[in-house]
Amino acid sequence: MKTLIKNIDILTMDEKLGQIQGGCILIEDDEIVFAGSEADLGEGADYDKIEDGRGMLAIPGLVNTHTHTAMSLFRGYANDLPLMKWLEELIWPAEDRLEEADAYWLSLLAIAEMIRGGVTAFADMYMFMEQTAQAVLDSGVRGVLARGLQGPDGKSHNRLEENRILWENWHGEGDDRIQVMVGPHAVYTCGPSYLEEVGDLARKLGTGIHIHLSETRQEVDNCIKEYGKSPVRHLYDLGLLDGHILAAHCVHLSSEDLDILRDKDVRIAHCPASNLKLGSGIAPVREMLDRGITVSLGTDGAASNNNLSIIKEMALAALISKGAEEDATLVPASIALEMATSYGARALGLEDTIGSLSPGKKADIVLVDTHKPHYQPRGDWATHLVYSGHSGDVDSVWVNGRKLMEKKELLTIDLDRIYSEVENIYNKVMGTGNG
Ligand SMILES: [Zn+2]
Repeated sequence: MKTLIKNIDILTMDEKLGQIQGGCILIEDDEIVFAGSEADLGEGADYDKIEDGRGMLAIPGLVNTHTHTAMSLFRGYANDLPLMKWLEELIWPAEDRLEEADAYWLSLLAIAEMIRGGVTAFADMYMFMEQTAQAVLDSGVRGVLARGLQGPDGKSHNRLEENRILWENWHGEGDDRIQVMVGPHAVYTCGPSYLEEVGDLARKLGTGIHIHLSETRQEVDNCIKEYGKSPVRHLYDLGLLDGHILAAHCVHLSSEDLDILRDKDVRIAHCPASNLKLGSGIAPVREMLDRGITVSLGTDGAASNNNLSIIKEMALAALISKGAEEDATLVPASIALEMATSYGARALGLEDTIGSLSPGKKADIVLVDTHKPHYQPRGDWATHLVYSGHSGDVDSVWVNGRKLMEKKELLTIDLDRIYSEVENIYNKVMGTGNG
């Protein structure tokens, strides 16, 4: 099956192709086979279907490299608190009342929100991840999933085993849309011996590790008190940074930490909205980019954001670095857009698969409706999208060549069903206890 999307402007995020005015994209099955001008496509090109994209801007599917989809239940719950108080007093007790089957609907709610905002791939770390995997499979989106791990305690070996089984059941499923990593929560919830077991499992499975790292000053101070070194150095000494590491936050870093992250090619999920909302601080994005570290964008869960918009994170990533460093040249729109696309793909280890609209890559494509006042006058699409855009501008979305949204209508997800299921779960989890 070949589909031609024509009459579109294109931000390819491909170095060679750049920005294309009035071009077209040809999709064959799950792959992009051409992006460029119609003249270059040639008259002999054949296709089964034409989509007229007039008034639309095509961009690669956006990548959300750190979230907890099932935490969509806690949107609007426990606001305006610091991280540890928020986790210990409100989020963790409420999570104890969640049941496994709930996670399917909560994940679908988050996935629906992400697709509507042009996010086609995300990295998740949480419990009940089999349910999230099923939601990824059913919705058609792309997910890199990890079972959140804490220990040692009475259940920590079960959690490791669940992560292993998750990998066995789901890694490569959905035509490779689903990948599985190992998900140690953080250095303050995982002891050194447990982290070593986590590292062993990741090596055995040949997969990456997704972890929260140096999120708050308190995390760093406590780690220094307990182990005499920073969380980054701690992981380094445990041999945990040797493979593919996706580290969320990385707000409080010394220059030694930054050098370690560069030397070990650790990929960062920068989560500006969550860091601001929880009062955690502002990550040293300039120092990371100057060292050539891969910095991508994550929303974190809906409880600490409160939405899952990568378009919003792009604007924040650009704006807060400028303000914090008193330097307007920092994180220009073009780099914010790289963070949300090509760097995001690299953070997930999917740089050969997604992240740009290049021939040979999977057809994860987003059409943004630019026929709106805030995109006029038509001009530099990167700055328009980053500084003026919002999630509601997304019109159509393809993942792996399959259309998941058309003219703002989700094709694989029944929103009314999700809303009613989520309301039942909300009443069950929040209606009792002290929530
Ligand atoms: Zn998180």
